[in-house]
Amino acid sequence: MSQTDCLFCRIVAGDIPADIIYESDRVVAFRDINPQAPTHVLIIPRAHVSTINDMTEDHSPDFAALFLAARLIAQSEGIADDGYRVVMNCNAGAGQSVFHVHLHLLGGRRMTWPPG
Ligand code: 5GP
Ligand code: ZN
Repeated sequence: MSQTDCLFCRIVAGDIPADIIYESDRVVAFRDINPQAPTHVLIIPRAHVSTINDMTEDHSPDFAALFLAARLIAQSEGIADDGYRVVMNCNAGAGQSVFHVHLHLLGGRRMTWPPG
């Protein structure tokens, strides 16, 4: 379901431009507008889900598709062998600022742990 007041639903609908690098029937991936690493891609389900807390069994194929897309994009971005990170922030306390679930795919630099 698409929400007109949701930034990422509007990107899926083509109402707001984005540097889209991958699309499937379930997910869309585009470059983050404020990249935190040389490769920083956001992978989102076409169907609106606000946070991981809202995920149900029905969403399982979409969430699987997010990770499969991450694997493909890591290969095509040339970061698969060196290593990369996938992050999904849930709610404001974890830093979520756009309330349409998205997987951050980050790579191209050395990552540190623990995350901030
Ligand atoms: P969050 O903080 O919710 O985990 O991640 C939201 C991400 O969306 C941030 O990394 C932010 O830079 C990115 N972002 C916010 N607005 C836009 C936009 O209009 N276009 C793109 N490509 N990325 C955006
Ligand atoms: Zn949305």
